[in-house]
Amino acid sequence: MKIYNLPHILPHRFPPRTSANPHGYDVCCNCGGPRLEHSIRCLECWFKYMSNRHFDTEEKSIELKDLIESQQYICPYTKNLLVPGENASIDHKIPLSRGGINDISNMHWVDVGANGKKQSKTHEEYLRIIKL
Ligand SMILES: [Zn+2]
Repeated sequence: MKIYNLPHILPHRFPPRTSANPHGYDVCCNCGGPRLEHSIRCLECWFKYMSNRHFDTEEKSIELKDLIESQQYICPYTKNLLVPGENASIDHKIPLSRGGINDISNMHWVDVGANGKKQSKTHEEYLRIIKL
């Protein structure tokens, strides 16, 4: 999706265009600050958004940021650099479908492509598969 299509999809989320900000959509849709290159949000609002998606509250955004920093922004599976708003996604080490809990202790950041391939495997199971 090209970024210039976004205002038509989310018109109410973008600040009005002004002479100082002729493109409206070049800023964070939530706070109006500088947005990430590959997201409609700034870094802080992106972590709040991810916190909301996984916990129904913004309160875990700092813990999610601490978690990705503790991983040095590296995917444990692909070793790719994890870029917020681009390829960074949250994975449950033990999937919820396998009885895992929805808690930071059961989460890590992984490349969105690896997350799709991992599906309902546990962290240990998926590590074994990709090391074959
Ligand atoms: Zn923001």
